[in-house]
Amino acid sequence: MEIVTKINEVKSLINNHKSAGKSIGFVPTMGALHAGHISLVRKAKAENDLCVVSIFVNPIQFNDKEDLKKYPRNFQKDLQLLEKEKCHILFSPSEAEIYPEPDKREFDLGKMAEILEAKHRPGHFQGVAKVVTKFFDIVGPNRAYFGQKDFQQLAIVKKITVDLGYDIEIVECPTLRENNGLAMSSRNELLKENIKKDCGVIYSSLIDISKHYQFETVEGLKAEAKEKIESVLPCKVEYVELVDSSNLSFIKGQIPKETDITACAAVKVDKVRLIDNIQFIS
Ligand code: AMP
Repeated sequence: MEIVTKINEVKSLINNHKSAGKSIGFVPTMGALHAGHISLVRKAKAENDLCVVSIFVNPIQFNDKEDLKKYPRNFQKDLQLLEKEKCHILFSPSEAEIYPEPDKREFDLGKMAEILEAKHRPGHFQGVAKVVTKFFDIVGPNRAYFGQKDFQQLAIVKKITVDLGYDIEIVECPTLRENNGLAMSSRNELLKENIKKDCGVIYSSLIDISKHYQFETVEGLKAEAKEKIESVLPCKVEYVELVDSSNLSFIKGQIPKETDITACAAVKVDKVRLIDNIQFIS
């Protein structure tokens, strides 16, 4: 695996491969890699000639300085995992390399970027849009791989790709979970073991929603999920919501038939913020 930290080096390396007619699959990450990330790497490898992974903890997508400070960083372990997967190129630039100057661009991300995560993390999606477009411009992939775990991010990345005319296929990848159902996340490392074992309740509450939706209103479903999570975990449920998966508009009252629904939740457990979602057709 080639490990590159400079933009001009990674560009020329990738351009050499492109000139040889090779297709590029790109997996952007913030490191502290787990099996969820690795599933994206494997898909990128299977579907392209070359797999490029980036590790960059993007400071401008953190609205909370404390969250950025304690975000897990395991570069040596990440290297071993990527070597084992036979990833071709790791791009791990410094902050100064990506932001030599503050990035003052403002993206029109529409209504999708005003709800759910955006309400609780002001500026988060502008930060995501800035870093994703910078990396798309540097790497110029044919395909880029994103997890459904961050479904709002995925929707916004798809919108940016269309709006800005990037010729990049955005590939959605399913959420990998721990045995108890907890969605894998770099932040899970910050959870105490005795709390982590109970965090499967977040997913099981979302499963309940996907099973009971015919019998209850959205408000009832949300209240039940919140109650169940709070009865098991010492936590603050920031939201449980049901949205139309196609445009992220909120569903209220009775769930309409034959609609692609995403039920999503954000829960703060012991200062660790966890998000998860489940998608189903009503
Ligand atoms: P992150 O390092 O958290 O920025 O995540 C990098 C990519 O991995 C994003 O596209 C995430 O949606 C994806 N990802 C994170 N957790 C999982 C998971 N449990 N299963 C599948 N993909 C994931």
